[in-house]
Amino acid sequence: MGIRENLDVVEACMKNACAACGRAADEVKLIAVSKTKPIPALEEAYAYGCRDFGENKVQELMDKYERMPKDIRWHMIGHLQRNKVKYIVDKVFLIHSVDSLRLAQEIEKEAAKKEITVNILVEVNVAEEESKFGTTAQEAVSLVEQIAKLPHVRVKGLMTIAPYVEDSEQNRRYFAKLKQIYVDIIHKNIDNVFMEELSMGMTGDYEVAITEGATYVRVGTGIFGEREYAAI
Ligand SMILES: *Cc1c(COP(=O)(O)O)cnc(C)c1O
Repeated sequence: MGIRENLDVVEACMKNACAACGRAADEVKLIAVSKTKPIPALEEAYAYGCRDFGENKVQELMDKYERMPKDIRWHMIGHLQRNKVKYIVDKVFLIHSVDSLRLAQEIEKEAAKKEITVNILVEVNVAEEESKFGTTAQEAVSLVEQIAKLPHVRVKGLMTIAPYVEDSEQNRRYFAKLKQIYVDIIHKNIDNVFMEELSMGMTGDYEVAITEGATYVRVGTGIFGEREYAAI
């Protein structure tokens, strides 16, 4: 199947998942995760209506930013090194992967220089996988409280990457846990924190994530097909 057919399928599944849990279809936004994919693939998705694209590498995001139309909302979903923050703060719509105060402070510094406010999500490693980035569930609330003090950084919600599993139902508890942390933070009424977004769910498990409250799902393979990583 081509990209258009894949997008039709993903959008239909998103609608069904929303209907199944009584949510309005426009509560959940699709991010087309285009990492490793060539420009023509992104152009096809763009022509079919996609405006939200997700990338996980700074250099690749910058290249694609230059070559693609300017009305795209770029989402940085990968681990971000502090020395690369300066390249992307004014190009990204939302950084999903903030997992430390030091990283947030670097974003603050670069955003202040450019006199902009940068929207971010705090990445939480709810499944406590050793191989994954993200703050712990225990530390998430205090990290949000600390980041909230930075005037040029705006916390918009939380993000998680669930484990790779055969049966997506196994990830339901992790999505529910992220939602619980999100609700706990809302109840704290922290100044400069706008808990609006829950970024959770990928190709294998986005329908489960939607029924647990996702507002952003990040789908790569399900839209663009399998990724090929060049052997180095
Ligand atoms: C690659 C990636 C995705 C998309 O994964 P698929 O399984 O291809 O849908 C989503 N989120 C993050 C953070 C990723 O790195």
